[in-house]
Amino acid sequence: MHEIIKKLSAGVPLNIDEFKKIVENENSSFKAEITDMAVKQRKNIYGNKIYIRGLIEISSFCKNDCYYCGLRRSNQNAERYRLTKEEILECCNQGYQSGFRTFVMQGGEDAYYTDARMTDIVSEIKKQYPDCAVTLSLGEKSYETYKKYREAGADRYLLRHETADCEHYSKLHPSEMKLSSRKKCLEDLKSLGFQIGAGFMVGSPYQTTENLAEDLLYLQELKPHMVGIGPFIPHHDTPFRDMPAGNTELTLYLISIVRLILPYALIPATTALSTVDEYGREKGILAGANVIMPNLSPVLQRKKYLLYDNKAISGAEAAEQIDILKAKMNNIGYEIVIDRGDAANL
Ligand code: SAH
Repeated sequence: MHEIIKKLSAGVPLNIDEFKKIVENENSSFKAEITDMAVKQRKNIYGNKIYIRGLIEISSFCKNDCYYCGLRRSNQNAERYRLTKEEILECCNQGYQSGFRTFVMQGGEDAYYTDARMTDIVSEIKKQYPDCAVTLSLGEKSYETYKKYREAGADRYLLRHETADCEHYSKLHPSEMKLSSRKKCLEDLKSLGFQIGAGFMVGSPYQTTENLAEDLLYLQELKPHMVGIGPFIPHHDTPFRDMPAGNTELTLYLISIVRLILPYALIPATTALSTVDEYGREKGILAGANVIMPNLSPVLQRKKYLLYDNKAISGAEAAEQIDILKAKMNNIGYEIVIDRGDAANL
């Protein structure tokens, strides 16, 4: 283990067995060392700055049927909504005033947002807020569609790979969804010049230590600019309703490891983390994360974007209450900045 940690801190690529060994040693005396090294790396590169992103959840309609997600098409009980261009622009307006310089539009895979509609929205945001970055997180699209998004001015794209193991992927998704397609999307996005974000859930059903090692190996190879890692949380109207939620400690440990594999990465302390743990945002930052994505969606729609049960949406989660978040971050020695917050190695 000592040798592996040395390699990790020196930026030497690890193999699958080494990653497996690290993940297995979560409860060992090495954990504190890894956390310390991760925070040191993060401070070397990003100081005590925290970048914020205004998360606009544009649609709860989805054509996919992922077994873990509350927005899956088979969920008859889900309340569906979608935002108009005007509503989205109003979110940006409010967000800009609160100090946000990145807007993330996330949603289910909703055919309403044709290429024409989406590029119109993206280019209008870029026109009105030229100093802001636009991030999209709208699922799997064709190369041509991604190209149009990019030409309209989108800067970044978040598409978690969910799990880097084919067999595990097939236990989380219906057969029409393939890991190979997901990976191809990430490659397409990268080749189009997007800053890309991958990531996975911790403690998703049937996940093994080996799977997590594969996730780390995949991230090491892909080298995404952003990595989203959060605990799986069951949703009562999905096939995984009775599955246990992912573990906070293991999530934090994986955040630290990813910080060491990809020192420049933008890593959020996710909403899922703060849903399973009251101090999730703080703990995420103290494990090496450097991004927080408060909810900028219209307050009336917010409770309808339910990926999982009890999703945190109030207080420090809410963009309009950014002052609460600022105070919380100051308390642990960090500072929220008004900045696009691009990766430092771009
Ligand atoms: N449709 C888009 C956005 C998905 S929602 C896409 O396909 O990328 C964003 C992320 O929420 C997903 O990538 C998934 O990792 C996470 N998520 C979904 N359901 C979840 C659950 N039950 N628990 C924790 N995270 C979940």
